[in-house]
Amino acid sequence: MDSRPLHPDSIAAQALGWIDEATRAVIPPIHVSTTYLRDPDNQYRSGRVYARADNPAFDQAEAVINALEGGREALLFASGMAAATACFQALRPGDHVLVPQVMYWSLRNWLAAFGADWGVDVESIDMTSPAALRAALRPGRTRLVWVETPANPLWSITDIADAAAAAHAAGALLAVDSTVATPVFTRPLALGADLVMHAATKYLNGHSDLIAGALVTRADGEHWQRVRKVRSQIGGTLGSFEAWLLVRGLRTLPLRVRAAAASAQRIALHFAAHPRVREVLYPGLPGFAGHAAAARQMQGGFGGMLSICVTGGEAAAIAAAAKVRLWKRATSLGGTESLIEHRASVEGPGTPAPADLLRLSVGLEQVDDLIADLEQALA
Ligand SMILES: *Cc1c(COP(=O)(O)O)cnc(C)c1O
Repeated sequence: MDSRPLHPDSIAAQALGWIDEATRAVIPPIHVSTTYLRDPDNQYRSGRVYARADNPAFDQAEAVINALEGGREALLFASGMAAATACFQALRPGDHVLVPQVMYWSLRNWLAAFGADWGVDVESIDMTSPAALRAALRPGRTRLVWVETPANPLWSITDIADAAAAAHAAGALLAVDSTVATPVFTRPLALGADLVMHAATKYLNGHSDLIAGALVTRADGEHWQRVRKVRSQIGGTLGSFEAWLLVRGLRTLPLRVRAAAASAQRIALHFAAHPRVREVLYPGLPGFAGHAAAARQMQGGFGGMLSICVTGGEAAAIAAAAKVRLWKRATSLGGTESLIEHRASVEGPGTPAPADLLRLSVGLEQVDDLIADLEQALA
């Protein structure tokens, strides 16, 4: 083979083609040891001491995620939240950070308390507006800009390349929660971002059967060193079995997310002009506010997440969710099964989700079945 870089599909399908050298197995074993033998001369030549910091069960999943994102290094965490919060815990009191008004709800809640308790100045802005970002950056004080794109639950788009340029001009790092976009559709590091975060619970694993998170970095700077310490010392580490399952899920990531995105696009178009639907929010719709920016930075699809705002308000939305048969009423996203959720009920007061919004995670069922089920639920 020549040395041209492998296509992401090939990286994923073989999980980088690693084999277990000891047995020649093409599927890795599950390493469960918590501790490693010290050499008689008191050295640790294996490079591994204790599994909170050095678990070989993480190596393959981290290498695959790193390769898909084009990063320098990836780290697995016990959850998406553990990965995201590590980026903020690595900051120092007095640091200023900018976060979006529209973002993953649990992280926003945590940040409000964390910022106050730990002396980190957390400021929420309209992250879809390059002007708002530039106005809010404080050169020398802003350490981190956190972006989520497409952002829960309105699927708002932030132009990553532009945000990276603005953040860097002010001396700040740009971190992107790319859970919804996945590395199949967007590669934030290539667009200038410094960090990528994934709730691997969602598309990377893709089967709704484990909680995991990942961070990928472009460079090994001071902030990343502190992130590594947060993981190994505070210990938000993933279990070995979960890491092994994650590799299995990653093998089919490109196929799964392309199928979900193709169905999401069809569902969005189908319901965009539906009499029972006030509005469809989906980055793939030409009339969507962030469509142009999404088209610039998302290649091959706009993801599997969309929201439908139902005519008749909150009661009509909840009634429609009550009538689905094939779609499952549940939170989360990125699994093979399609999920529907009245988002305002979950997020409570202060949510940016309109009361009539139903969030849809499109799975791998046949798309006409999904459309027919929504049709009867809305009727
Ligand atoms: C689910 C999710 C998270 C949090 O991940 P967990 O694994 O549930 O902790 C963060 N960001 C986004 C966009 C998510 O969907």
